[in-house]
Amino acid sequence: MTIGWHFDNSYSKLPKIFKEDINPAPVNSPKILIFNKDLAKKLDLDFSNVSKDNLSKIFSGNILPEGSNSLAQAYAGHQFGHFTMLGDGRAVLIGEHLTKKSERFDIQFKGSGKTPYSRGGDGRAVLGPMLREYIISEAMYSLKIPTTRSLAVVKTGENVVREQISKGAILTRVALGHLRVGTFQYIAAKQNISDLEILINYTIEKYYPNIKTSKNKSLDLLNVLIEKQTQLVINWMRVGFIHGVMNTDNMSISGETIDYGPCAFMDTYDPKTVFSSIDQLGRYAYENQPKITKWNLTRFAECLIPLISKNEDEAIKLATEALDKFEKNYETKWLNMMRDKLGLYGQDKEDKNLIMELLDWMQKNKVDYTNTFIFLMNKIIKNSEAYKDTDFDLWKIKWEKRLTLFGNSHNKSMELMNSSNPMVIPRNHKIEEALSLASNGDLTLFNKLIEILKNPYLVSDNDLEFMCPSLHSDKKYQTFCGT
Ligand code: AMP
Ligand code: MG
Repeated sequence: MTIGWHFDNSYSKLPKIFKEDINPAPVNSPKILIFNKDLAKKLDLDFSNVSKDNLSKIFSGNILPEGSNSLAQAYAGHQFGHFTMLGDGRAVLIGEHLTKKSERFDIQFKGSGKTPYSRGGDGRAVLGPMLREYIISEAMYSLKIPTTRSLAVVKTGENVVREQISKGAILTRVALGHLRVGTFQYIAAKQNISDLEILINYTIEKYYPNIKTSKNKSLDLLNVLIEKQTQLVINWMRVGFIHGVMNTDNMSISGETIDYGPCAFMDTYDPKTVFSSIDQLGRYAYENQPKITKWNLTRFAECLIPLISKNEDEAIKLATEALDKFEKNYETKWLNMMRDKLGLYGQDKEDKNLIMELLDWMQKNKVDYTNTFIFLMNKIIKNSEAYKDTDFDLWKIKWEKRLTLFGNSHNKSMELMNSSNPMVIPRNHKIEEALSLASNGDLTLFNKLIEILKNPYLVSDNDLEFMCPSLHSDKKYQTFCGT
């Protein structure tokens, strides 16, 4: 019985400027900690006859699968608004694996050692942040939000020096693709139009073959990414996800959530919520995420200008027209998403007021974002005293009246709410507790959290503790980039 790897490495065939061929740097004594059997199955990979020892060697990159061709990808990025040339400094793409149905997935090791793009970094990753990426990315997948996924975490058996000495780890990341807005910025900055053309054709072939025969492929690619990223950020807003570091190198061309550094979920509803320790001005705060999405898309459009039209004025005009539609499109989609969260069918001109009134009440009364919707679904939550409030009751009367406006049954509204409102999200204090136990070798809570987060829209009463925010306000909760 073989594992079933089937590599077809299209990226490795691109010109030299796009990448550097490099193998993962072997590690001392790798030990597999987490292996995602469900994902392996989805990839048509079978590791059932592989020993733990060999799993450890495979997912640390100490032995590379046949057919792989490992490389570091070049990219640039606007980090907090400042442009820098970057590239995979601590990751290698080992190749693109095809499933039996020919679905293509990038397989990448993160924390696999120095590359030519490491810029003084050690190329390594720390255990805590890799486990954190594993659990949050898998939770996002189960929340039905496009995301990169995590196949395995291996402890390297080596220390990494950060502010303190930490345990090293390697995460195996699986994605529809690792091209970023920053990849386009890198190639555009080199000002060789034929490379840009190669990148655009490659992107369309790999991700969006339906626009292959478009009259203006570059403009259509811009439109496709605007649509994908709008949908993505709407989903983040739906579940209270704060990415934390929406730099252009962390915006994926596949429309997947990528780079789980300082991300976290909001507990108490406050649009200004920021968790990242380095985001002091709140550039990537919850409420700013749609604006930043448009800012990043504008950087993407700038790269495409020379290929949208030979006439620069015309190209700028076309790109601007596409980008100008962002706000209206976002607003429409956001309203519909919020209608779903409230079980509202149809459209009424008062809907926006009704939604804003609830959000304002939530902010004023400092209630939990996720649990408010659960409370409205008549399900049990802890700490429901906050909802014994006259303003809330008055709002609820209006909402209940609106629910019946188009003659839909209560059950249908509940169904809609059930599919839009998670019962459980990765709660910051639970994640921290699980990671702290895991770093001391006890993975019991970590594994339990993974199981619960596999069904976030369905949770049993036994799991109430996983639905609660921390008793202490999460305002003070801080996240770190975790390099
Ligand atoms: P990130 O914050 O993970 O999006 O990374 C931003 C850039 O820094 C990317 O080019 C990474 O490859 C690089 N980087 C992050 N950590 C390291 C590290 N330990 N060694 C080398 N490069 C790194
Ligand atoms: Mg990144």
